[in-house]
Amino acid sequence: MNCENIAVMISAYIDGELPKIEEGYLFTHLGSCSECREEFKAQTSIQHEVKINQKEVSLNFEKKVFNSIMKSKKTTLRGWITRPTPAYVNYALGALIILILVISWLQVSSLRQDLNLFQKRYEASLMQMNYQASQMYQMMNSIPAVEIKQY
Ligand SMILES: [Zn+2]
Repeated sequence: MNCENIAVMISAYIDGELPKIEEGYLFTHLGSCSECREEFKAQTSIQHEVKINQKEVSLNFEKKVFNSIMKSKKTTLRGWITRPTPAYVNYALGALIILILVISWLQVSSLRQDLNLFQKRYEASLMQMNYQASQMYQMMNSIPAVEIKQY
């Protein structure tokens, strides 16, 4: 049996696909051929590392899955605690603010109207007072001069 066949047998053995009878041949050869022994060692160590990596990968994967589950649980929990205010509340608040603004604007404008009215009334009364004053002056001027007698 040559060494090339042994290499194939080694990989078959590692994959667990080597029949028991051929296993005997393989180990007999390995006992006498140091090159194939090295090959066997190298392949088994590779296989070992592959298995370890697979294990690590699967462990990491499990960890990731676990973490993502925990995260989603946490976020749902947090979502319940700091639940965003429902849209209708925001709409109601917005409507309330707009209502308050409108009311205050109306109040200001009505106040302004009152001020205008007051100003107009004030001006009217001022004009009236001026008119009355001028009438009084006219009346007083029309009165004949009063002589002040000296005793
Ligand atoms: Zn050999």
